[in-house]
Amino acid sequence: MDSTQTPGLRLGPATEQPGTPARFLAGRTVLVTGAASGIGRACALGFAGAGARVYVVDRAAEAAKAVAEECGGTALVVDLSDPVAVDGLPEDADIVVNNAGIQHVAPVHDFPPERFQLIQRVMVEAPFRIIRRSLPHMYAQEWGRIINVSSVHGLRASPFKSAYVAAKHALEGLSKVVALEGAPYGVTSNCVNPGYVRTPLVENQIASQSLAHGIPAQDVVEQIMLERSAIKRLIEPDEVAQAALWLCSPHSGYVTGTSLPLDGGWTAH
Ligand code: NAD
Repeated sequence: MDSTQTPGLRLGPATEQPGTPARFLAGRTVLVTGAASGIGRACALGFAGAGARVYVVDRAAEAAKAVAEECGGTALVVDLSDPVAVDGLPEDADIVVNNAGIQHVAPVHDFPPERFQLIQRVMVEAPFRIIRRSLPHMYAQEWGRIINVSSVHGLRASPFKSAYVAAKHALEGLSKVVALEGAPYGVTSNCVNPGYVRTPLVENQIASQSLAHGIPAQDVVEQIMLERSAIKRLIEPDEVAQAALWLCSPHSGYVTGTSLPLDGGWTAH
């Protein structure tokens, strides 16, 4: 016996453990918010590649339509800060990817309360409303997947990001409650927690942090963003999409209520 094997546990040959079929989400429908750009766009394309029908939800009409065309999906132009519009979204998704997010960088004592409120509406209330409307369909078919795109800032804080850190921590809590309630119905709920991803949101942050700290943009990336990361590069949007896809694959059905750091070792500190 291979010395790495546990006595009594037979590890069969690879042929007994078929891999994930290429189009393992054929027949499934996924709703991705913030799908017009960055991580959401990568998810839309990745899920479509796995065979899913995609609802491309975003407020950016032209970009949403372009992504929908690219992935053969349906563009739904919605401002997620508007609860009435959110409650008009389809209720028949088998998979929900709560991804849309915005950032505002300012010290707490200067942080505009209306901006704080907007961030909670888009990044906490909208995911809650979308999940609560999607669960009855998932419960009825005894299968569903909720993927919440959180952040390393759902697990750790950074200065000047009070609204964002508060929203991501709230999303973590929401995700865990949904995991507990959904388990008897075959519904899992998980967060993915990227470090800094190469997207327009980060490119904007580099510019605002550069202003806040009074240092060049290159130094923001090297000295601030990647300071806690053991792997000294930004993560690509498709790497996040692949983690979200794995959480919907046949091999991850026992994974729920978790937060999967994709942070180059940041939270290993
Ligand atoms: P992005 O700016 O590239 O894309 C965000 C998308 O959300 C945009 O298409 C935007 O139009 C849409 N959006 C924003 N507000 C909206 C609203 N009110 N209604 C409808 N659509 C709205 O951002 P990204 O970097 O791809 O980030 C996606 C998610 O990943 C966010 O939740 C973000 O917090 C999270 N995240 C990003 C990073 C990163 O480094 N980029 C790291 C960790 C987590």
